[in-house]
Amino acid sequence: MIVHSDVISMETHKNCFVCDGDLSSADCKKVILLSTLSRYTRTGLPAKIGQLMGDGFMVVVTASDLVCFNCVDLINQMDKLEFDLKRIQRTVSGLLHKKYGLSDGKFISSDYFQGVFFKVF
Ligand SMILES: [Zn+2]
Repeated sequence: MIVHSDVISMETHKNCFVCDGDLSSADCKKVILLSTLSRYTRTGLPAKIGQLMGDGFMVVVTASDLVCFNCVDLINQMDKLEFDLKRIQRTVSGLLHKKYGLSDGKFISSDYFQGVFFKVF
């Protein structure tokens, strides 16, 4: 559900899309927002920013929008944490499914969880 909608964009391509840092210097390391993928999930940076901001915001980018290396690094750190969390969740979930013979929607219990029931959706 969209509570409110704000537009995130920038009018000049001389500043970082994320932190607004000055990127006009030739030796300033930067990437083109639209053509850069995150390091771990290979997701486009506009999509990563959109996921971060949620449904309440609409992220509008242009072909000339840039992101500084520092912000790309932060997005990649976030991407790695999300990637690792999903991998660990799959592993733990797989172990629980295997140990308790789970299938979707099945109630289970065990000696470890006496009186506690899990419902898998
Ligand atoms: Zn930046």
